[in-house]
Amino acid sequence: MTDVRGGVYPFCRACTASSTAWRAPDAATRLSGMGSRFYGHRDVCPDCGSSVRTLYSTFLLIPVAFRGRFRIIRTGGRSFVGRRLLDRPAAVPAYSEEPPPSEFKDHPELVDATYEQAEAHWAARDSAGALPLYETSLAACEKVLRADDPATLQVRLRVAQALLATGDYASAIGWFELITPQLNRVFGADHKLTRIAVEGETGAQLMVGGPRAEMKLLSELVEQDEQTLGRQNPKVLRTRAALGRATMFADQLGAAVQVLEMTLADSIEGLGNSHPDTETYRSFLLEACEAADLRGKRKDRELSAAARHRRTLAPKAD
Ligand SMILES: [Zn+2]
Repeated sequence: MTDVRGGVYPFCRACTASSTAWRAPDAATRLSGMGSRFYGHRDVCPDCGSSVRTLYSTFLLIPVAFRGRFRIIRTGGRSFVGRRLLDRPAAVPAYSEEPPPSEFKDHPELVDATYEQAEAHWAARDSAGALPLYETSLAACEKVLRADDPATLQVRLRVAQALLATGDYASAIGWFELITPQLNRVFGADHKLTRIAVEGETGAQLMVGGPRAEMKLLSELVEQDEQTLGRQNPKVLRTRAALGRATMFADQLGAAVQVLEMTLADSIEGLGNSHPDTETYRSFLLEACEAADLRGKRKDRELSAAARHRRTLAPKAD
């Protein structure tokens, strides 16, 4: 597939701008006679090949309710990725997007040619050429800047985008899961960079399929990297955290708590207790505990209570 930079992969820029992220509902209601079906096939895009289709809820295969219009790209067999069409293309935000202060200016040694070279490759749609240069640039940033310094976060986002564009979905999801909450906190939810991360994450998840397919892909990567890099390696931590998140979204809440607690413990050992990534993994664990308390079975709630106790997280609110 060609690299359609500028849009949310695999959609082109124009199709991305006229639509919004959407995850197809699970087709698990077939027994009840309820389902959904796309009708029509028009406005085929010459750039990305997507077409506009209309989704209806069906009952015994008969369309009964209009659900919306979507841009759809088939990804083989009966699977597809889709984006919901907007009535009007998203407006450019009117507020200023001044980045928060960075320590970058205090480190003249970071201003080298690598990042500019990476940007040149990226602009020329050569994601595979850009990726190792972004990674080099990021390693230099992380040596002297905080992991959640605005400058570091921008390079982290580029690495995630380049991984997505080169089709390494598992590694891309690991990065997007980690940096989306960090970008959200540092830049705000409405900032362009945060929105790029949210779109990128959704795009990567769409390419993989549902949370179960994501769990399989991520656990394979964890297993493979753990052998060579060790459990406390930042990449292994990222992938395992994303695996914990996917496990939570697959509603396996007790298992999610266990995976995320292991991630947090390894991150405290490997990166340190107050490292920004450790903070993010701690918030993931807390979120999984809350989900287990709220929707879990008794066993899930017990695992949550034990993890809260061991990790001195706030106990369950009554
Ligand atoms: Zn298109």
